[in-house]
Amino acid sequence: MADLFDKIGGFTQAKEAMALGIYPYFRALSVSEGTTAIFEGREVVMIGSNNYLGLTTDERVRRASIEAVERYGTSVTGSRFLNGTLELHLELDRRLAKFVGKEAALVFPTGYQTNVGTITALVQKGDYVIIDKDDHASIVDGCLMCRGELKRFRHNDLSSLEDVLRKLPAEAGKLVVVDGVYSMGGDLAPLPELVEICKRFGARIMVDDAHGIGVTGGGRGTAAHFGLTDDVDLIMGTFSKSFASIGGFIAGSADVIHYVQHHARSLIFSAALPAGNAAAALKALDIMETEPQHVERLWANANYMRQGFNDLGYDIGKSNTPIIPIMLRDDYRTILAWHALIEEGVYTNPVLPPGVPSGSSLLRTSYTATHEREHLDRALAAFKVVGERLDLIQTSHELAQAGSEFSA
Ligand code: PMP
Repeated sequence: MADLFDKIGGFTQAKEAMALGIYPYFRALSVSEGTTAIFEGREVVMIGSNNYLGLTTDERVRRASIEAVERYGTSVTGSRFLNGTLELHLELDRRLAKFVGKEAALVFPTGYQTNVGTITALVQKGDYVIIDKDDHASIVDGCLMCRGELKRFRHNDLSSLEDVLRKLPAEAGKLVVVDGVYSMGGDLAPLPELVEICKRFGARIMVDDAHGIGVTGGGRGTAAHFGLTDDVDLIMGTFSKSFASIGGFIAGSADVIHYVQHHARSLIFSAALPAGNAAAALKALDIMETEPQHVERLWANANYMRQGFNDLGYDIGKSNTPIIPIMLRDDYRTILAWHALIEEGVYTNPVLPPGVPSGSSLLRTSYTATHEREHLDRALAAFKVVGERLDLIQTSHELAQAGSEFSA
């Protein structure tokens, strides 16, 4: 008879990497101040966070969070449905709706729960949810949990989307979900074309803008960037990146948000985000609304690095945002490069399958408004040394030519 735990003995990859001293995951930072961090006693330039506007250490954001903890305590100990709604949550709902240009918004405990809750609430038996193959895992999980049917189209491939939609029953409800900015490739969704196709096939469209809000469209997100705020049905965001906190939200028409509020199980059956996090997100929102210079600095830094990596000869895929993947396309080389970069004082994120398709491993790098030129130059110098030592550049181009399905 098989034992449930039989599979556990067969899972050896992580332990093998640990034995070699190159296991990169679940390792702690002892200090993390946005631009630099202390990783196991070593000072590193941090180019592996999602702290796009650098607000996690902004004195005003810290203060707002501390004051909210002092006033409301450390937890609301309940769901927004019952005792967990504070005035801070309602203020965030209102202010976020206005910020992204929608009638209403609803704050969830995390971005993950926002996607799961929204999709499961809206996509019911007989409906279809259609997603880009590179969509975030929280979208995929929402689709797997909902009662409707899941279909996928090739990344940013409009004819693939049309092919999928064409085969679906005209009378069925349809929701197309895309990321505004893809979290690994750093490329944008072609929203003008996607919106046109969705309208033609009678599908609703939802944009997960976790990496767009605070970054694209002057900070108001990818729909705003394309001037399509009114044409996108639902805009999702998270507080765990530009908002320097944790939490998530969905924005749309007042009726749709009212419906989601009363049907999203991940909202109703989970405690609301604590006051300290709500207050931090509110203060970050104040700053986004009044200080455009942070977004400008973020883009200047990202553009500087894109140029720097291009000059070094690295393959950075189709990135045109502050997320810049270094396409290495080989799992082992990616881990070795991560490790060598740490030794050179640079923190990146190694991303292997299943985070990306097989043969498409990459080092995910991302930038912050508060990085100084000196940080960026240190990172580029380390990439030059490590790239030459491990022969990363030539090899990655050869592997790309041999054929990779990931279009980052
Ligand atoms: N969507 C995307 C595109 C993301 O990258 C993430 C977080 N990595 C999420 C949703 C989930 O957000 P959260 O961290 O708030 O759960």
